Amino acid sequence: MPPGNARMVLKGIGVAPGIAIGKAYRVDRNKVSLVYYYLPSPAQTKREKDRFDAAVDRAEADLKEIRAKMAGEFPEHVHIIDTHIHILRDKMLYDETIRIIEEQQINAEWALRQSLENAQHIFAKIDDEYIRSRFSDVDFVAERVLENLTGQNKQSVAGIRERVIVVAQDLSPADTIQLQVEKTLAIATDMGGKTSHTAIITRSLDIPAVVGLENVYQAVRSGELMVVDGHAGKVIIDPDEELLNYYYERQYQLERYRKEVVRCAELPAETEDGYNIKIQANIELLEEVVAVIDNGAEGVGLYRTEYLYLNLDQPPTEETLFWDYREVAEIIYPEMVTIRTLDLGADKLNTRMRGSTETNPALGLRSIRLCLQEDITFRTQLRAILRVSGITKNIKIMFPMISGVGELRAAKAVLEEVKQSLIKESIEVDENLQVGIMIEVPSAVAVADLLAREVDFFSIGTNDLVQYALAIDRVNENVAHLYEPLHPAILRMIKQAADAGRQAGISVSLCGELAGEPLYIPILLGFELDSLSMNPLAVPRVKKIIRNASIEESKDYLNEVLHFTTAGQINEYLCNLAWRRFREDFELFADEMGNLPAASGNGQ
Ligand code: PEP
Ligand code: MG
Repeated sequence: MPPGNARMVLKGIGVAPGIAIGKAYRVDRNKVSLVYYYLPSPAQTKREKDRFDAAVDRAEADLKEIRAKMAGEFPEHVHIIDTHIHILRDKMLYDETIRIIEEQQINAEWALRQSLENAQHIFAKIDDEYIRSRFSDVDFVAERVLENLTGQNKQSVAGIRERVIVVAQDLSPADTIQLQVEKTLAIATDMGGKTSHTAIITRSLDIPAVVGLENVYQAVRSGELMVVDGHAGKVIIDPDEELLNYYYERQYQLERYRKEVVRCAELPAETEDGYNIKIQANIELLEEVVAVIDNGAEGVGLYRTEYLYLNLDQPPTEETLFWDYREVAEIIYPEMVTIRTLDLGADKLNTRMRGSTETNPALGLRSIRLCLQEDITFRTQLRAILRVSGITKNIKIMFPMISGVGELRAAKAVLEEVKQSLIKESIEVDENLQVGIMIEVPSAVAVADLLAREVDFFSIGTNDLVQYALAIDRVNENVAHLYEPLHPAILRMIKQAADAGRQAGISVSLCGELAGEPLYIPILLGFELDSLSMNPLAVPRVKKIIRNASIEESKDYLNEVLHFTTAGQINEYLCNLAWRRFREDFELFADEMGNLPAASGNGQ
């Protein structure tokens, strides 16, 4: 127990390691809240219409200002703002709100909300899916006017000006990629889980984060001093001097350890008895390739390409994608880059999808299913990937969420068609391009032997595999304690997929968050995988542990834990093993070992 006191200590899930000390900055990401009132006199009705007009005028002026800024930096997106300006005075929203104020004699806020609901009903009946989904634009515009009417400005995380700890009820992946890294000391949220995409991004941006705190947003005041301990999954509000000094000291020790492991990051991941495993990095954005190189990763094992689509209304163009992939491939060359095709959906929603009303999005139209339906978007991406493959020759392509052979063949057929059309246009494509799949749906594990015959590699995605196999929503903090990557079912599934891949002679990688968890490394080695791919910042410590390990011992450890019956038992075994066999790499994290697997930290 650390010494000293604090006004409050909250326990959550440490999702990105590191310790931050600084002032809280509360970000309200909820919808504007409204009050209803009836207007007893015609004079008040008139005043309400004037208020509405003024709010629309102000929204228009704001949008025009944004448009002017965008025209310089992102001319290709200006049309989105034009559409929003147009919607402001569209009959469905503007005339309808005025009509409701007059007829029902109610305040402008309620009238606007009502006209928005009417619009939603109209859109819901439209057959064309694309047009139907445009409702999100109307919703966005109406929210802007509502903010002006109520004076409640929803803050944008992009607008933060000082170095602060961002505190919110929830942050979407789209919010998180807008965070300005140099302004954000840490993140603390009420909601979320360890493998939510928001968590994954905070790890790759190297921002300490604790999620699932339940009421940190209510508990803290903006400007209050707080500590975020991403290792222990704790938030300390208003600590006294003794406690503060403890955290300053701990921050220093962790930083010193991190520098020490990074110094050896270039050394290969070879066990004491000569087994080599490739350690690669997962990235979400082009900007992260620097971290891949700096942390000694041997290529990119997973490029989550959907992040380029998140804050856009329209999918990026083929040229935008081409230059993005080309830059990544050229920087990483001669190592390989595994580009995963679009995995949108579930918690990764683009602007257009945010209006969607699927009741169970993790099981809905996401990922490869969405790509096979939105043929043009898929083909555009495949063209860009294939064009780069012909130039740099260090690309692999990977399909996400494949559930069986039929779906794989459908995706491969589209890939082949796109390839042939490029060849017809005399555009070079890498003839040796390897095509693989994520193994992240339980049905894919069950038929892994059949899938292995038709691909060049597997990459096991444990984040989704745990979610689907254990029926635990990976972003839901209420069931986060049940999200058990060490569940015997998961270890057996990894083994089944790895064995099927090996028997078919294809390479097998593991790219879920599990791969970057130092505590799990001794048994992961036992699966005899070809590579592990993880958040770039986790690479140096994982490599160091592997250099201290032995493949023969690891096979024995794995055999032993495969006979255990619960995740708790396996976790305890691993904690003891770490303490007994790898003490120098775990000593600094001893306090948190009791919280494992949620918070072993990645050693930054
Ligand atoms: C996974 O599911 O394990 C994975 C690596 O992909 P993502 O986290 O992007 O769903
Ligand atoms: Mg996945």
